[in-house]
Amino acid sequence: MPSSRPEAVGLLLRATRFAAWKHRDQRRKGQRAEPYINHPLELAHVLWFEGGVRDETTLAAALLHDTLEDTQTTVQELQGEFGEEIASIVLEVTDEPSLDWRVRKKLQITRAKIASPRARLVKLADKICNLRSMISSPPQRWSVERRRAYFDWAREVVDQLRGTNPSLEERFDHVFRQRP
Ligand code: ZN
Repeated sequence: MPSSRPEAVGLLLRATRFAAWKHRDQRRKGQRAEPYINHPLELAHVLWFEGGVRDETTLAAALLHDTLEDTQTTVQELQGEFGEEIASIVLEVTDEPSLDWRVRKKLQITRAKIASPRARLVKLADKICNLRSMISSPPQRWSVERRRAYFDWAREVVDQLRGTNPSLEERFDHVFRQRP
């Protein structure tokens, strides 16, 4: 069946390929050490199939969401490849690496409150995927207390995002109920 939106398909393929290349040598920190790219792919999948999100800009930003934070990619590079809008969404969901991790965690909560609608969707999907990974493949050296604290912090972030996508919020609440 020919797509009615070939440019959307092209964009998503470009974003997938770009992210796969940038994350090519990375693994997730869970005990399964899955290829890193599984994570952004999962986000896009959750947005489409569980959140009903059909906006390709949001989906592309989800595929690219960790490239600034976890690879050598620059904002300028994202702007050049994918345009201002997608680059700015990725920037919105990127932690400032120079800050102490406690400050970064706090900042995520305050920044979530003022995030753009597309960044809010990416954040929601990210938190759903991260908690699911924390259950299916927890980082080996993390104590139960640390995992609990991670769940609680994720919920604090998501509480700032409520009213964005009821279906995703419900998915989040569902996974949160499996808090260790
Ligand atoms: Zn992520």
